[in-house]
Amino acid sequence: MSKHTPMMRQYLRIKANYKDAFLFFRLGDFYEMFFEDAIRAAQELEITLTKRDSGQADPIPMCGVPYHAAENYIKTLVDKGYKVAICEQIEDPKKAVGVVKRAVVQLITPGTVMESSMLEDRKSNFLASLSHFQDGSYVIVYNDLSTGENYAMIISSGWEAVIHELYNRSIKEIVLSPDFPAHLQQQLKDKLHVVLSYQKEVDFTGEYRNLCDQINDERIMKAFSRLLNYIQHTQKKALDHLKPIEILELTDFLSLDMYSKRNLEITETIMQKGKKGSLLSILDRTVTAMGARTLRKWIERPLVHLERIEKRQQMVEAFYQNFIEREQLRDTLKSVYDLERLSGRIAFGNVNARDLNQLKQSLKKIPELKEILEQFASKHVKELSMQIHLPNKVVSLLDSSLIDDPPISIKDGSIIKDGFDAQLDEYRDATRNGKQWIAELEQKEKEITGIKSLKIGYNRIFGYYIEITNANKHLIPEGRYTRKQTLANAERYITPELKEKEQLILEAEEKSVELEYELFLQIRDQMKTYIGHFQHLANTVSEIDVLQSFATVSETNNYVRPTFNSKNLTIKNGRHPVVEQVMKEGEFVPNDIVLNRDKKILLITGPNMSGKSTYMRQLAHTVIMAQMGCFVPADEAALIIFDQIFTRIGAADDLVAGQSTFMVEMLEANHAIANATENSLILLDEIGRGTSTYDGMALAQAIIEYIHNKIGAKTLFSTHYHELTALEHSLKNLKNIHVRAEEFEGNVVFLHQIKEGAADESYGIHVARLADLPEPLINRASEILHQLENGEGTNSKSESAQSGQLSFFESITDNRASIERSSSEEKAIRELKKLHLFEMTPLEAMNELNRIQQIIRKKQS
Ligand code: ADP
Repeated sequence: MSKHTPMMRQYLRIKANYKDAFLFFRLGDFYEMFFEDAIRAAQELEITLTKRDSGQADPIPMCGVPYHAAENYIKTLVDKGYKVAICEQIEDPKKAVGVVKRAVVQLITPGTVMESSMLEDRKSNFLASLSHFQDGSYVIVYNDLSTGENYAMIISSGWEAVIHELYNRSIKEIVLSPDFPAHLQQQLKDKLHVVLSYQKEVDFTGEYRNLCDQINDERIMKAFSRLLNYIQHTQKKALDHLKPIEILELTDFLSLDMYSKRNLEITETIMQKGKKGSLLSILDRTVTAMGARTLRKWIERPLVHLERIEKRQQMVEAFYQNFIEREQLRDTLKSVYDLERLSGRIAFGNVNARDLNQLKQSLKKIPELKEILEQFASKHVKELSMQIHLPNKVVSLLDSSLIDDPPISIKDGSIIKDGFDAQLDEYRDATRNGKQWIAELEQKEKEITGIKSLKIGYNRIFGYYIEITNANKHLIPEGRYTRKQTLANAERYITPELKEKEQLILEAEEKSVELEYELFLQIRDQMKTYIGHFQHLANTVSEIDVLQSFATVSETNNYVRPTFNSKNLTIKNGRHPVVEQVMKEGEFVPNDIVLNRDKKILLITGPNMSGKSTYMRQLAHTVIMAQMGCFVPADEAALIIFDQIFTRIGAADDLVAGQSTFMVEMLEANHAIANATENSLILLDEIGRGTSTYDGMALAQAIIEYIHNKIGAKTLFSTHYHELTALEHSLKNLKNIHVRAEEFEGNVVFLHQIKEGAADESYGIHVARLADLPEPLINRASEILHQLENGEGTNSKSESAQSGQLSFFESITDNRASIERSSSEEKAIRELKKLHLFEMTPLEAMNELNRIQQIIRKKQS
């Protein structure tokens, strides 16, 4: 270390405490990075890598970003999952003896970002603390630092459930004890792609002690303290906006496992990973960012208590029925800014005058909002409007102090209104008077000298001056002005009087700018005392926004209010909320769904692309929407309240994730079987498809039987194994349904209509016939099918195979010598042999056969 300069030694000392972060080391107007940090940052940020002490034998790699543009660079790094430690000069460099003192003032991590430019307005940003206890339980406490929310949950059902919860909450960063089991840490990284951080000792007596007061559970207390200590460690200051912890009982919400959340494309689509095309995108007609975040929370945690669901429904109904008031409401909400995050930033101390101005604008809209809500007859809407309460003092303070369109900078004045502070008014008067005096002086000098073009100007270097063009110079009375500056076509002068006034004006201006800054800080501090009010208000506004969003989307898309009962689920003309939106009006074919004690399992058959999985997904979406309190896409809906939804629906990204499709199928099926109850909904799409015919089918059947006999959950099971339809005879509560498809003028037409009973088992062969396959092949296929159905296996020595006529297969495979074949026929045969017919759907088979036929046809023509 000694070979380094004192400043580099300081750098290394500080860096040693922030090994897992990029250290942004403030040097004048730059944040510099050195050594490994510099090499990696140069790559990640695409900035130039330079060297420090480049004359030396061993120069230090270095790169830097300008202080004023740092936020963008920090955002890039944090978005990539890195941490950035901001190290500032903490004493005035002019007064420093030796190396300027420096210290890390904030550690910015993916889960602790506060800056609005680094956050997504309509998404929460969660940081979690995860603890494991001896009794086998886990505690997750999670927090959104930008809004101050804190939640806790205890999970006693094992590690899998922890993963599912963390996944579903879109947690960005997890704080662990360093001795958290390593193999579990690895799983967190692999499955959730989160940033892991560590907080060693946990101190219960810290700044946030009061937030722990209400907690009775020792485990939650520990996990929460770890979280708070980490926040303290990263933010280095107390934050006044953290809310008391809300303990979430998992059984109070409809639980969606992570597979369901992903497969059902609740908040993002599988392929694009974006919100567009998800259920959320359909339901989101929120106007405010806070509302959008609340909607996300609701969609991730639908309700299970009838009373709570009906309360929301009743308000949605009220908003639904009253279009005009609802539009007024939406209009008013448009002028309400993000009160929740503004509160967070007030606590953090980094709001500027524009932010406070947004706060002011928003608060001024609140009485109007309250008035609109009071017009609704709904009891619950009235209750909400009664919760809206705002101390008059806040608005009057902001209103009397802040000008309407303040600049971003809080240090350059032009923030505070006249009349707010007497001292400030005095300074401003002095400035104004001075300026007035100068204007008068200009007039006076013009008259005395008779120079019409004489003017008084100002610049930063010379201050005030009198400017006279060269053509008029000779008119100046001898000795009247002192020359100060010569321009190409004019001369600038001063007088002692002018300089004296200038001094006064500048002094007053400087003082007034300083005073404005001070006053601003005072106002900002005063706002801190109202944070609780703002947060409360934000909650109410968000809730109203989500409810109006439900009403708006329900009206626009023709949804109905569902009812609930404990026995029968009956949906009349149900639709898929997302698919119907991408279709033209009337194109989506609605379908009924009935599930009850006698009909617990629906086994769905029908060709590929006929609409089986759409039908299953639309049920899940309907259930989720209903349990959130929204209306649903159907003509009528009587529903059962489910406790959990499980799905196994083919997802294209399974392979990308590195697991074989079949393994994923089994993992997801197992998760459902292990956790489902009689009150759950299970959706299994084409289970068993990822393996060879017989064991796939065997597994599928065993799974159905298990669900039927041991769990009793309501289940939709789609399959292309027609053999399974026979289960209707042996399993009392299983019913066959199928999706209708028809042949029309030689084409297959998908009607997307769900009908009772099983699909025609020889459907695939019909399709093959339509595709003009040779007659002998079709006959043979029918024969094989017949054998399979009778459990005989595919006997090559079948009747037609043994008959005097050559069967199709014999003609192309066995009698090699007697038939002369071209290479394309050989190829067609090879291709045919390779087909695994029983692992294909009828349509896939048809396509393959068509392709092979083309090979032969090409040759013939
Ligand atoms: P399967 O699961 O049977 O292979 P999908 O459910 O994936 O079929 O549906 C295939 C396509 O058919 C969908 O992408 C959609 O375009 C269309 N479709 C499905 N159901 C309907 C319906 N009820 N009305 C209109 N089109 C539908």
